[in-house]
Amino acid sequence: MMSIIESTRDGRPLSDDQIENWISSIVAGSIPDYQVAAWLMAVYLKGLTPHEVDTLTRAMARVGSDPVSCPGDVDKHSTGGVGDKTTLVLSPLVAEMGCRVVKMSGRGLGHTGGTLDKLESIPGFRVHLTDDEIARQVNQVGVAVVAQNARLAPADGILYALRDVTGTVDSLPLIASSIMSKKIAGGAPRVVLDVKVGSGAMMESQDRARELAAHMVRIGSSAGLRVRAVLTHMGQPLGYAVGNALEVMEAMSTLRGEGPDDLRHEVIALASEMVGLVRGKNASEVSAEVSRVLDSGRAYTRFLSWIEAQGGDLELLEAGLPEAPICQAWKAPSSFTVSAMNTKALGLAAQALGAGRATKDQAIDYAVGLVVRVKIGDQVKQGDVMGEIHARRLEDVSRIQPILERALIAGEAPTPLPTILDVLDNDG
Ligand code: URA
Repeated sequence: MMSIIESTRDGRPLSDDQIENWISSIVAGSIPDYQVAAWLMAVYLKGLTPHEVDTLTRAMARVGSDPVSCPGDVDKHSTGGVGDKTTLVLSPLVAEMGCRVVKMSGRGLGHTGGTLDKLESIPGFRVHLTDDEIARQVNQVGVAVVAQNARLAPADGILYALRDVTGTVDSLPLIASSIMSKKIAGGAPRVVLDVKVGSGAMMESQDRARELAAHMVRIGSSAGLRVRAVLTHMGQPLGYAVGNALEVMEAMSTLRGEGPDDLRHEVIALASEMVGLVRGKNASEVSAEVSRVLDSGRAYTRFLSWIEAQGGDLELLEAGLPEAPICQAWKAPSSFTVSAMNTKALGLAAQALGAGRATKDQAIDYAVGLVVRVKIGDQVKQGDVMGEIHARRLEDVSRIQPILERALIAGEAPTPLPTILDVLDNDG
């Protein structure tokens, strides 16, 4: 196996057989973590050819993975952001519109949060379902959001957990193969990719994000999937909440019509792309109906049915998830206009509070996190409350506060960016 690591380290492409054997051996557990981690770093530094990425993705989707017997009509995946809780809102929303969703999600990765961790902040929620349970649930409530397991895209489960703690997260071939292997294994024929761009995204520039999107669309085409990749702005946290239970509560407010505007807009935009794909229409033709369904409260009822079906304790959830012992207001030290944000620093601050992992097996503190109430372009006055820090210990608050202050960049208000920056599609 050393020759695989050395080839990638030296920029020599691997053959299809080598890639297949490498992934099979990883899934069989016969490669120690340190060798897999060394290979991930080699990929991070040297990249892979487009052909290698295709082969790797197919191997990751297939090796050890049984087909999902009851796939959804449409799937969605985000490349990851700070405060990105769109899946929690749009899955029940599109299910309410007759589009079934079976989605394999991820855990926190680097500075970005993960849908599975957010869902697990709901006591009783189970992310590991058998194929029969997925089929039953999709037929009953139209939504299932699950984790990889030993029978469902196991390779990504192993690589993902190692990338999170080895500095190998923001690599184009690793992101593309991770996401697309889960989408291929998930079995839905249509996929909407939310490719985030900006200071809180894996790809900070639009050019890099477009390159990643084009790569994933191409992989989807060769697997026979209809794929629409939507580039969305991640220059500031999406919504206000960053942290697992805090984000679940904000997603619920959005489903009840009380959520932050930016989150609501992005959910409607992405849900419209999903419903549009299923109905063979443009997003603009269905977005009014998507907004109406969101405003009707029916998607909230559907959310509750979904959470209950997956074991979540509705009584506890509706009473409010457990809060961190300390909730400290974060006040503006001076008056200024927010011209930009270092959103990655905000994500790392939430992680340092305990909302994400520093090592592979670290337990998450579901209650901690940040609420960032200011947005780019806002003018704040000295002493204004800009948000809250939800922490377990006072010393964590003192450690985090200066990071938060540095993350807000003072200057002129920039021209606002649209929610959707670009759309790439493989329909000819
Ligand atoms: N989401 C994934 O599933 N994988 C990545 O690498 C990034 C985001």
